[in-house]
Amino acid sequence: MLTNHFRTTLQQLTDQSVRRSLSPLESATGPIVSHAGRTVILLSSNDYLGLATHPEVVQAAIEATERYGTGSGASRLVSGTLPPHTSLEAALAKFKGTDASLVFGAGYLANVGVIPTLIDRGGLIIADRLCHASLIDGCRLSRADFRVFRHGDCAHLETLLRRRVSYRSTLIITEGLFSMDGDLAPLSDLVELAERYDAMLYVDDAHGTGIMGATGRGTIEQFDLEGRIPFHMGTLSKALGSYGAYVVGSNDCVQYLLNVARPFIFTTALPPAMAAAASAAITVVEREPERRARLWANRHYLFNGLRNQGFRLTPTVSPILPVLIGDAAKASAFADRLLAHGVYATAIRPPTVPDGTSRIRFTVTAQHTTNQLDEALQAVKLAGRETGLL
Ligand SMILES: *Cc1c(COP(=O)(O)O)cnc(C)c1O
Repeated sequence: MLTNHFRTTLQQLTDQSVRRSLSPLESATGPIVSHAGRTVILLSSNDYLGLATHPEVVQAAIEATERYGTGSGASRLVSGTLPPHTSLEAALAKFKGTDASLVFGAGYLANVGVIPTLIDRGGLIIADRLCHASLIDGCRLSRADFRVFRHGDCAHLETLLRRRVSYRSTLIITEGLFSMDGDLAPLSDLVELAERYDAMLYVDDAHGTGIMGATGRGTIEQFDLEGRIPFHMGTLSKALGSYGAYVVGSNDCVQYLLNVARPFIFTTALPPAMAAAASAAITVVEREPERRARLWANRHYLFNGLRNQGFRLTPTVSPILPVLIGDAAKASAFADRLLAHGVYATAIRPPTVPDGTSRIRFTVTAQHTTNQLDEALQAVKLAGRETGLL
């Protein structure tokens, strides 16, 4: 009975070309990886600055492990708060220019944990249609009413805000830099709408952290809105090359969350190594702006290369370069051909993206060389022809 359920579900996913499978690497993440015994160019990692393998970041993780062990032993509130956690929270608050910060086990946990502490039954959430699954799940857990506004469309959002009827509170949710489209939220307008309509604004800056803004502080710095957004979240798992997530804001905000956010209370603290690695990564982000410069140069190079070959990209402004295919089966076939030609870039299909918008989400990092990008572009061209996309 249960076996049947597993099998029929898997068969349906296969039929719809949206079945997922693991495709293990045999080396560390990086511009070049080992996959199925071959060396391939990786264009699918969110380690934008190459910090996951930065010697100083790795060393910080090793030292923290030697001093504090592998596991934290308990929830932060029980006996799990260790020096690497408190130093990381201080470093994050300083980096973001806030009074305080609170670290969570993962971005997913932060989103499903924080959103239900902001709003509950009787409230209204209005989220950008392209919000990450963890944000959507946080909304579901909150039990508030839920509406979506068209991606980046403030006029639509305003219509929904005007149409509100006697909700106790309203929460607007957006990503700063959208993970699957690579474009930015109209953050200044969102802040204004939130102020005008007396709504809270929740920004997930998972992808902006470390790469956006003049000094890498993120999307909020990019829009010059520091001080106007009372708190926001981001992750340690993308450009910071570690694992975990944070909320930055006022002391009250942090004290409130550590008292009420269930995925903070009822889960074991982040391993000390990950906290120490993230702190070291922040130091590197601040000290080595050339990594960001290299990332953006690579981004422009690959973007132009893809566009000149005739591919249709999303309106991206970031190192996330999604080539739109549409059909899930075609996107998978394209990814297979890319791999055959030495490029590892995953097809992103529903439900990660809306139906009919399957894509290859290329991501470039600071570590790719121009030679590697040229080789990758050659492979993309061949794969594009073989699958009838060019
Ligand atoms: C990756 C991601 C998350 C989840 O973060 P993890 O630390 O990987 O759990 C949340 N929100 C967005 C927008 C993301 O891209």
